Amino acid sequence: MAIIVGIFSGLIWACFASFAGVIGERVPAGKSIGGRSVCVCGRELLNSENVPVLGYLSVKGRTSCCNQKLPIRYFLTETFSLLLGFIFGLFIGSAIEHGGGVIVWFIWLGITVVGAFAMIALNWRKPKTEVS
Ligand SMILES: [Zn+2]
Repeated sequence: MAIIVGIFSGLIWACFASFAGVIGERVPAGKSIGGRSVCVCGRELLNSENVPVLGYLSVKGRTSCCNQKLPIRYFLTETFSLLLGFIFGLFIGSAIEHGGGVIVWFIWLGITVVGAFAMIALNWRKPKTEVS
């Protein structure tokens, strides 16, 4: 049980980290957060390239179209969030196993929401021309 909650939590956190990267990059630049991520050459990223952590690994940190280096911080923040979310989920899952009840889920949700905003704050940067 705890391991399942851990995996679930880790995946959610990795997706939030990925999305926080998009928000932190585009909102300060006045761009829309809707729409697909594009390479500096204008090509839209593939679904497989958009998957947190694995997307970066699948292209070995470079875009498949023009061999542009992808910023390592995306990979690092996503991996870090995945691990953090996983460990946090293990505690939550364990608390549920020990009869923590529904309140435990609210604690998870509360900290996850705070974590998501913290990730956006960490990813917030001045407009720059970079793969986003
Ligand atoms: Zn490209």
